[in-house]
Amino acid sequence: MKVHHLNCGTMRPPLVAGGIVAHCLLIETDQGLVLVDTGFGTHEVSNPKGTLDPLSRKLLKPLLDINETAIFQVEKRGYGAEDVRHILLTHLDMDHAGGLRDFPNATVHVLDTELAAATNPNKSAKERMRFPEAQREGVTFETHKAEGEDWFGFQAVKNIPGLPDDILMVPLIGHTRGHTGIAVNSADGWLLHAGDAYFYRGEIETPPSNIFALKLTARQTETIREQRLSNVERLKELKTRGEVEIFCAHDPVELARLA
Ligand SMILES: [Zn+2]
Repeated sequence: MKVHHLNCGTMRPPLVAGGIVAHCLLIETDQGLVLVDTGFGTHEVSNPKGTLDPLSRKLLKPLLDINETAIFQVEKRGYGAEDVRHILLTHLDMDHAGGLRDFPNATVHVLDTELAAATNPNKSAKERMRFPEAQREGVTFETHKAEGEDWFGFQAVKNIPGLPDDILMVPLIGHTRGHTGIAVNSADGWLLHAGDAYFYRGEIETPPSNIFALKLTARQTETIREQRLSNVERLKELKTRGEVEIFCAHDPVELARLA
């Protein structure tokens, strides 16, 4: 399987020097193309106000460049939207699920608790803001339970219908109720897209380091604090084993290392 590392959404939140990225994966498999996260798509670019609420736009300051959309980068490689059969989402936040409507033939895989949180009619104001309904219009979802077999000490959802055995969901609950990592067994070994389980590469290094604005962001956007913090510890441990290449969604240095 060939894995491409894409940036599908540069953002320039205040106080974060150099900005942040939306690190997505485009995977070429025998059964077609698979995307992991979709950043921002053509709908956000052409009509930001129709999808993203004013506060998110102010806090994230997304660049919204058509050249960064997943569909643009898929077509640049000679494929079409219809070649993307499956999309796995780490979670449904608006900077991860933005491109879904650009791939009408894809089945979108999420944890069941994530879709339930996003579609709950009584969700909190914060959850209404982070999960804009427009991004999910006409999208075909397939949900999965956060349980499964052992993968490097984590519980992993394996044998996802239509996907090769080398692509797994690795639940990392905390940032949102159904947040998950996505593991891919690439030609260069195991990759783990950890989504927003952490925001800055130093968080899972030993000794850990962080920058203030991103530490604050992690706190302000967390849903289940204890589980989030315990998952950062587990990722730190996994990193010391040196067997899995771990990266998060928003660190530009991690993306540059892998792209
Ligand atoms: Zn995010």
